[in-house]
Amino acid sequence: MKKKRIVLLTTISLLFLGSTMVSADYSSNHVLGGKNRTGGVFKYWLDSSVASYGYTNSITNAKTNWNAVPNAGIFLFETSDADDAEIKYYVTNNELGSGVFGAADFWDRNSNGKLSFLSPTSVMSGTNFDMTRIRLDYGRMTSANFTSAERNHNAGHETGHAMSLSHFEDYPAHTGNHWMKSGQISLNSPTSTDADHLVWKWPAP
Ligand SMILES: [Zn+2]
Ligand SMILES: [Zn+2]
Repeated sequence: MKKKRIVLLTTISLLFLGSTMVSADYSSNHVLGGKNRTGGVFKYWLDSSVASYGYTNSITNAKTNWNAVPNAGIFLFETSDADDAEIKYYVTNNELGSGVFGAADFWDRNSNGKLSFLSPTSVMSGTNFDMTRIRLDYGRMTSANFTSAERNHNAGHETGHAMSLSHFEDYPAHTGNHWMKSGQISLNSPTSTDADHLVWKWPAP
C-alpha cells in the first residue's frame, strides 16, 4: 500500500516537470533574437489614422495591460515626436493581405533619421532594430466583424512583436489563446504565458 502511493507521487511530479518544460520554451520561434536598441522603454507615436478609424482605445489597452505585467523591464508610453518613437502605429484600410488583420515590421534609423527596412528573418536570428512599424487593418477587421475584444487582441499582439515576442502557435506551440497567438481571438489582456515570455526577454533591471 505504501509503495503504491510513492509510485503515484512520482508520476505526478513527472507530469509537472513535463508541463514546465513545455511552457519554458523561449526559442526564436517564440521570442525574436533581436530587440529594440534603446532598451525596454518604448515611446510610441500614433498616426492620425489611428484616431480617425477609432483605434486609440485598443492601443491604450495594449499599453496599459503590457505595462501591468509584473517584473517586466518594459514601459510603453505615448510621444508626439514620430522621429523619436520606437513604435509607430498606423490604421490602414484593406492595405494588408486578405485575412491579415495586423502587421509589424522592423527598421533601422540612421543618423539623418532615414529609416531602412530589416528582413524579419534577420531580426528573428538576432539583428537589433530602432523602430517597429505597426499597421492595424480596419478594412480586414471590419470584413471579419471584429469585436472590441478582438481589436484589443490584435493591438496587443502587434505591440508584442515590437517587444520581440513572436508566435506561440509556432513549433513548439503553446496551447490555448494568447495575445501572441495569431488570428481572430477575443482576449483583452495578455496571459501568464505572454507575461512569462516578456519577462524572459526583458527582465526587470
Ligand atoms: Zn514559448
Ligand atoms: Zn504576429
